[in-house]
Amino acid sequence: MAQSIPESVRALLRPSAASLEPYDPAFTPSRINLSANENTYGLPKDVHRKLVDALASVPTNRYPDPMSGELREAIAAWHGVAPEQVCVGNGGDELLFNLFLAFGGSGHVMVNVPPTFSVYRLYAELVETQVKDVPRDPETFEVDMGALLEAARTANLVVVTSPNNPTGNLLSVEDAARLCEACPGVVLMDEAYMEFASAEDTAEPLLARYDNLVVLHTFSKAFCLAGCRVGYVLSSPGVIGALAAVRQPYSVSVLDQTAAQVLAQERDALASTIATIRSERERLSSGLAALDGVTVWPSAANFLLVRLPDAHQVRCTLRDEYSILVRDFSQAPGLRDCLRITVGTPEENDAVIAAVSQILERSRA
Ligand code: PMP
Repeated sequence: MAQSIPESVRALLRPSAASLEPYDPAFTPSRINLSANENTYGLPKDVHRKLVDALASVPTNRYPDPMSGELREAIAAWHGVAPEQVCVGNGGDELLFNLFLAFGGSGHVMVNVPPTFSVYRLYAELVETQVKDVPRDPETFEVDMGALLEAARTANLVVVTSPNNPTGNLLSVEDAARLCEACPGVVLMDEAYMEFASAEDTAEPLLARYDNLVVLHTFSKAFCLAGCRVGYVLSSPGVIGALAAVRQPYSVSVLDQTAAQVLAQERDALASTIATIRSERERLSSGLAALDGVTVWPSAANFLLVRLPDAHQVRCTLRDEYSILVRDFSQAPGLRDCLRITVGTPEENDAVIAAVSQILERSRA
């Protein structure tokens, strides 16, 4: 349960934070947790062993390398860019905050494309950035490119998530290029879930053409390190310099840097799990879509957006009677009666399909 802020304290807050509430992931310990888009398969045993061995010999008495030098080089080699084009952060979340700290602020405009990851608006407003929404199509959640390009022309920052959380849509590389050309400011392509899409869907090749492009990745999803908190962005050396200037120098611990280095090195060992998640995504999608009254949107990520009658109640019953945790978006603008379900293991997915089917049948009886 989120902790409340007394009025006496609220009165002391900076105006842009005065109406905020502490973030509440609505987490309840459950038998099956499909609520936070983690990789529920866990690390392959041999990779986990290498991770543990590497951590065992890390000295902790010295501060970490502020820019995560060795990890930065490994990421640069992996993505075919220069180390100066990489900034590592304490999860993608910290890098997002740094991006708003550096490029947002009073008098600056961020273009947002909802429904999407709520953190962009939160961080933008926290540092007094004006947010201009360009809503997605209410049925397909596709981006309105005409309106987005128009808004981008006067923006300091444009943020597009691809695949989008929670709707699963991709933005084409051609459209990402048009955005970079239209926007005089920075264009962030948040690719936190790109490993679950196809290799040709990433905007990364555009980094060679556009200095204002920023591509965000994380080790939290495909690479099983949500608990470690390591993300990174790729951009031009100038933009990375700006991020380096605003960030907290020691935010990525020696343990986290080491863990991410192991995963960068062993990334190919995750390929078969990622392939399984992609095929399970299609199986979970058709299993749910076959149920009466259920709509499932196509997704390029490791989760599905699902609309079903009385979604909020279904979510509570899943949690309370089946110990299955999914994410409730039914109160979010544009997402009436929607739940977001992370793709799990075959057993977890079977359990979700069976439980939702039973709950819907009971509600019709
Ligand atoms: N971007 C998107 C779209 C996300 O969904 C998330 C995690 N929910 C993040 C970035 C940040 O992830 P992390 O901080 O774990 O790297």
